[in-house]
Amino acid sequence: MSASVPLGPVVAWILLATLAGGRCYASDRKAHVRGINRAGWDAGALLAEAARRCPSLRDALAALDKTNVIVLVEFKDVGPRQPPGALHYIGTGHGYRYVQIILFPFARRNEQIATLAHELQHAMEIAADPSVRDQASLRELYRRIGDEVEDNIFETDLARQAYRLAIGELTSTPARTEKR
Ligand SMILES: [Zn+2]
Repeated sequence: MSASVPLGPVVAWILLATLAGGRCYASDRKAHVRGINRAGWDAGALLAEAARRCPSLRDALAALDKTNVIVLVEFKDVGPRQPPGALHYIGTGHGYRYVQIILFPFARRNEQIATLAHELQHAMEIAADPSVRDQASLRELYRRIGDEVEDNIFETDLARQAYRLAIGELTSTPARTEKR
């Protein structure tokens, strides 16, 4: 659960790779937060379940729809030291700013959803600051509003709160008794 700012050159190619390689968006293509279904890991299904079970997360999705930030959510197995979630700035174009949320595919469902809520809070922090246009300005924002918990990994209190709020909502809305 980190707003990680990867080192290295601009990673616009990641956006291209994502769009070309993703099988489909399981969620509404007009929505600003979009789940990608890749390798059998369906982030669109996660988004749908999260929106059903977590009012706070539903609010975050609606709020992000009113911004110029597009959030691509996907599960990815990136190795043994993978955090439960991470957010990367991937590019700016056509009036939109694109970020990517990566979730750990092997976590428990409630953990995945609460981590998504946490990372969406970071997306809202970026949405609220139009000066974020690339990785350098993203780093500036988090130096201002966050704590650097590890080298180049930042955290905010609001994101920690979003996680705890989602866990509370999930506990009171078990997946099995969910009305469809
Ligand atoms: Zn975080």
